[in-house]
Amino acid sequence: MRIDVLTLFPDFFAASAEVGVVGRAIRGGLLDLQCHNPRDFTVDKHRRVDDRTFGGGPGMVMQVEPLRAALAEVRAMAAAPALVVYLSPQGERLTQRRVRLLAGLPRLLLLCGRYEGVDERLVTREVDLELSIGDYVLSGGELAAAVLIDAVGRLQEGALNRSESASQDSFEDGLLDCPHYSRPEQDAYGAVPEVLMSGDHRAIQRWRRQQSLGRTWLRRPDLLSRITLSGEDRRLLEEFRLQWAEQKNAVRS
Ligand code: SAM
Repeated sequence: MRIDVLTLFPDFFAASAEVGVVGRAIRGGLLDLQCHNPRDFTVDKHRRVDDRTFGGGPGMVMQVEPLRAALAEVRAMAAAPALVVYLSPQGERLTQRRVRLLAGLPRLLLLCGRYEGVDERLVTREVDLELSIGDYVLSGGELAAAVLIDAVGRLQEGALNRSESASQDSFEDGLLDCPHYSRPEQDAYGAVPEVLMSGDHRAIQRWRRQQSLGRTWLRRPDLLSRITLSGEDRRLLEEFRLQWAEQKNAVRS
């Protein structure tokens, strides 16, 4: 997969391109990340990319021309068609489902806004998808782009090793992930749940599924309402609810 990023701060991506899973994916040739500064596509000597907002008021706007020129040149740098994504607080919310869809594409071209954002005419004519990483306002699209790059990068075939497998992560099957524990078995903060030490793989699988269901019910009931539970899932969740109510009562009394 190739990802081109149009950003006024290309250096922003240097560290995240070197470390962890995404760094490994880039080094292994699974992900080709290229950053481009719109200033390099300007023709005036001041390399200007922004101007005042029409209608008055504070703030600058990223202008059409430098971005149009940059988009045209960057598109032509590779043969694969690019989906142009503008990171914007006004975009559709980024979800794991959308990440999976984007991770399967050959090429993304990410546009990072600054100031008041990008001239609306460029957004209307050039952008295929506006994506938001949440209902808050960042000072620039770079952090949002880095989030997207990480999320799609780790899903590239071969990017994760087995122990980091993505298939059981939160949201993959509509639920939150179960809790995880490692050594030591006993610690001042408590013991590891006994079933995880039993070696009984069916029982472990059952416990993990139940924890996933229970956690989702406790923390993100909105997710539960979007999926259809099997009869076994409903039984596991009911059992979890009863245990949870008992524990709550025990703490109170
Ligand atoms: N005036 C814009 C608004 O209120 O919708 C906010 C502009 S913001 C200060 C500057 C840039 O940060 C945006 O153009 C966008 O690229 C990026 N940005 C801010 N919040 C974001 C979010 N939640 N998700 C994705 N990108 C965001």
